[in-house]
Amino acid sequence: MTQGQGSLAGKVALITGASSGIGAAAARVFAREGAHVVLVARREDRLAALSAELRAGGAQASYYTGDVQVSADMARAVSYAVETYGRLDAAFNNAGAAVEPAPLQFLDDKAYDLVMDTNVRGVWNCLRHEIGAMTEGGGGSIVNTSSVAGLVATSVAAPYIAAKHAVIGLTKAAAVECAPSGIRVNAIAPGLTRSEMVEEWFTRFPGQEAKSKASAPQNRMAAPEEVAEAAAWLCSDRASFVTGTTLAVDGGATTW
Ligand code: NAP
Repeated sequence: MTQGQGSLAGKVALITGASSGIGAAAARVFAREGAHVVLVARREDRLAALSAELRAGGAQASYYTGDVQVSADMARAVSYAVETYGRLDAAFNNAGAAVEPAPLQFLDDKAYDLVMDTNVRGVWNCLRHEIGAMTEGGGGSIVNTSSVAGLVATSVAAPYIAAKHAVIGLTKAAAVECAPSGIRVNAIAPGLTRSEMVEEWFTRFPGQEAKSKASAPQNRMAAPEEVAEAAAWLCSDRASFVTGTTLAVDGGATTW
């Protein structure tokens, strides 16, 4: 596909958590679909390598190193996108963190703060600045990464479940407020997806991978690209009447 033909052709898209996993896959999918991408995360070496890879493939790609927990960082990331490419059309607020699985009475404030500050405050920080830029530009589309943990509860992940439910609440609130400005706001709820976060978990808990696959309707987990495709569709004009929704990308995991 040439750059002018994709579902995101010419759109300027900011992607957080772009240094690995679902975010890195999204960078490749969005670029393939013709978007000009601005990659955001903390690990500069990863972002530099990925944006170089995308540029070598003919895409317009650059990066901004920042922490989603810090509002000023996200303000600068959005300004950077607007200064570099002229506007902001799409944002995939995907950066996230999980904590050690444990019953909630054994988790401390540090674990709670990490998960809330990254997943909820991070999305909050992004939304506020993105909405400002998109309102000035006449509209846009935002996708926030929740999780199946935002739709249902399992044991030993209480702060993560609370955080991912909150992401869906923020998504709905922003969708209602921003609809008159031509900005759509949606969430995706991935099921288990093969990323660094998950690989590390499988390494530390032997047997968990087989158990997870066995309990999934398709007997497998998602590839990061399969989740990225859903975010790309929601960011595109093909999803023009979709706002305030949460799209489960979970291979049917929340149907049973
Ligand atoms: P991953 O490979 O570990 O990616 C997490 C990304 O978030 C990295 O790029 C990381 O980059 C970034 N990040 C973390 N804290 C950050 C911060 N404070 N500021 C900026 N960036 C930060 O894991 P993933 O699975 O792709 O996760 C992506 C999203 O999907 C997360 O929101 C996660 O909760 C969600 N999710 C994942 C699964 C799954 O099974 N994998 C399922 C449901 C939902 P740096 O470290 O370079 O900053």
